[in-house]
Amino acid sequence: MTVDVKIWGIVQGVGFRPFVSRLAAVNGITGWVANEGGHVHIVATGTRDAIVRFLAGLAGENDGPAAVVHMETNYAVEPQTFDCFTIIESSKGKDDLVFLAPDLAICPECERELFTATDRRYLHPFISCMQCGPRYSILDQVPYDRDNTTMVDFKMCSFCAGQYGDFGDRRYHAETISCHDCGPQLLWTGLGGQTERFVALAAAVKALNTGKIVAVKGIGGYHLACTPFCTETVDNLRELKGREAKPFAVMFRNLAEVKKFCQVSVKAAQLLTAREKPIVLLPRKSSAIVASVYKLSRYLGAFLPYTPLHHLLLRETGPLIMTSANISDQPIIKDDAVMLGIKHHHLAGVLFNRRQIRIGIDDSVVRSTGSGEQVIRRARGYAPVPVYLGPVSDRPVMLLATGGQLKNTFCLTKQNFAYLSQHIGELDNVEAIAVYQHNIERMTSLLRIQPEAVCCDLHPDYTTTKFALRYAQAKGVQLFRLQHHFAHIAAVLAEKQIFEPVIGVAFDGTGYGTDGKIWGGEFLLCTPQGFERVAHLQYVPMLGGDAAIKEAWKTACMYLDHAGLEAAIEEEKWPLLKAALLAGVNTISSSSMGRFFDAASAILGLQRVATYEGECAIQLENKAAEYGADRPRGKPYRYQLQAQDGKIIVDVGPCICDLVTAKTAMVPLPVIAYNFHYTVADLTANVCELLREKYRVNRVVLSGGVFQNAILFDLTVDMLQRRNFTVAFNSVVPPNDGGVSLGQAFAGTYLLRGEI
Ligand code: ZN
Ligand code: ZN
Ligand code: FE
Repeated sequence: MTVDVKIWGIVQGVGFRPFVSRLAAVNGITGWVANEGGHVHIVATGTRDAIVRFLAGLAGENDGPAAVVHMETNYAVEPQTFDCFTIIESSKGKDDLVFLAPDLAICPECERELFTATDRRYLHPFISCMQCGPRYSILDQVPYDRDNTTMVDFKMCSFCAGQYGDFGDRRYHAETISCHDCGPQLLWTGLGGQTERFVALAAAVKALNTGKIVAVKGIGGYHLACTPFCTETVDNLRELKGREAKPFAVMFRNLAEVKKFCQVSVKAAQLLTAREKPIVLLPRKSSAIVASVYKLSRYLGAFLPYTPLHHLLLRETGPLIMTSANISDQPIIKDDAVMLGIKHHHLAGVLFNRRQIRIGIDDSVVRSTGSGEQVIRRARGYAPVPVYLGPVSDRPVMLLATGGQLKNTFCLTKQNFAYLSQHIGELDNVEAIAVYQHNIERMTSLLRIQPEAVCCDLHPDYTTTKFALRYAQAKGVQLFRLQHHFAHIAAVLAEKQIFEPVIGVAFDGTGYGTDGKIWGGEFLLCTPQGFERVAHLQYVPMLGGDAAIKEAWKTACMYLDHAGLEAAIEEEKWPLLKAALLAGVNTISSSSMGRFFDAASAILGLQRVATYEGECAIQLENKAAEYGADRPRGKPYRYQLQAQDGKIIVDVGPCICDLVTAKTAMVPLPVIAYNFHYTVADLTANVCELLREKYRVNRVVLSGGVFQNAILFDLTVDMLQRRNFTVAFNSVVPPNDGGVSLGQAFAGTYLLRGEI
């Protein structure tokens, strides 16, 4: 039989066609493969079994750098016969799609050469090939040719040029090809210009091995590196990063080493070793890694070396903290001048090179939960690989979705694909906003996208909303404003190509509601075309402002008061808060699930103030984790479901009362914390059942930052599935605000086509 296959994705400039011809040879397939415009076209003839194996290999078993985003197979073609399988010359297709390769981790072949003493590139810190090395972060313009990357500054030596031009070589047209003679050189501050080979590396290793902090230039920016085994060093790192409070990730030499420090499931091992080489959040074992690294987290962020330099360093130092070099929430530092300009008594030196980084890209963060893989931060290795939106484009549209305010990403669409930017971060400082705007300009130009419309949040104060307003006006294009939690749910609809109505459960910190109130504990009846708010947590009055959000004890006061437990409030400042509340000074109404978790955390005395977003809820989750999996199932606390204006209102006041009672009765905190999680899962399932009855919808979609809570997430999915719901959730983009732009874009394509 003969099949005709088209593949879209990162399939050009990464050695994909040679991979296809090897796969054809293995399976006894004849035919041809060619690049056509933005996709790869294959015609393959073979026995039915061979074709099945061949197609499976194309779709999944490819462990090379190619990322297949979408594949179309046509079985209804006339049988054709061929003598062999050939790679034929590329032709210009007409789809005008551009797929840019993400930065690729060092491949096994290059790693082997790196440590082969007889190899010309033995210990070359920048060894790379057709299948590995930096891509997106060094690109100036398409097509991806050496002259269009920052490798243009390095003239190939005759040896490298020979391989580059040799069709049979695995570095044929490897644009980042280099060797000790012609590639970037490792430099160490203080040693001046050219340093003798390995002197820079040795200096950095010596500093690291004596407990010092070193800046190391990586792929998408600088890291700050140091040992994870010394509290003083780690505390110095926190000081250097501007009193950073978040846990740090640790890079280990190999999988076996990770297993000494963390519990690694089979799925987690796959994530660690995947070509994207993300940071994977793993349950921590007790070890010599000091608490200052992970703070109070029960997880440790672990990852494996993804550049040759990482291998060279870690071989001499052992595990290292590798954290993005930035100060507080500012963007990652990528420019040598900026990094070298930082003089700090805790920074021992800078290990760098003269290959320029065009855009900053942080490390990605993922984890594997009982219910599936979850992306927490989508950046290096993933961006800018697009998401396939399904066969939606009867009228293809190009648009820009500007995303949220925190954990920002933006998203561009073209034909059936949505291109998400890398994680850009909190847009609350001028540096981050500049990076954001630069990335939008760069990506629209690289992908040849002229947005016909721009989508943004409803929140009037988001930087991204203001940007969208200006952008729409300047370009004379339409503007669509989409509700935050609808966008969260729409992100899952986009990922999973769901077009029918769903019950969307969006639980997060804050989002601007269509009624001007703060939402965050929402049940929305959704299709990609729009939504109806059908249930939510009851509004509780809160004090407004960013500071108040971090002060969970204040939120706890509000919840206690609302539950009629004013007498149980022991806070000295309560009368002041109450006065402000009564006078309506700076007060808002909130139905946020995130705030509910904060309140519970503070009421149980776990954490009163968050030093970073979500910290109080994380402490509550940690406490619940102590309950242990082998103990009996949880018991829900009380809550009330009330009908109001055709909606279901969830009153969690009784739950607050039960928390206080349980704490007073000295019930162990892990039990209370676990039962609290169980309560939220239980109320979610019960509300969904009522909605199923009313609207005849059986599919539930979960999204929002609160679902990063693994205990809540697993309990909720489990409970819904036990009640025969079909459950969908994010696995390609984060459930937090990093996924919002995809939802905006997906819904925006419908709005633009005027389908509502
Ligand atoms: Zn390689
Ligand atoms: Zn060379
Ligand atoms: Fe959100």
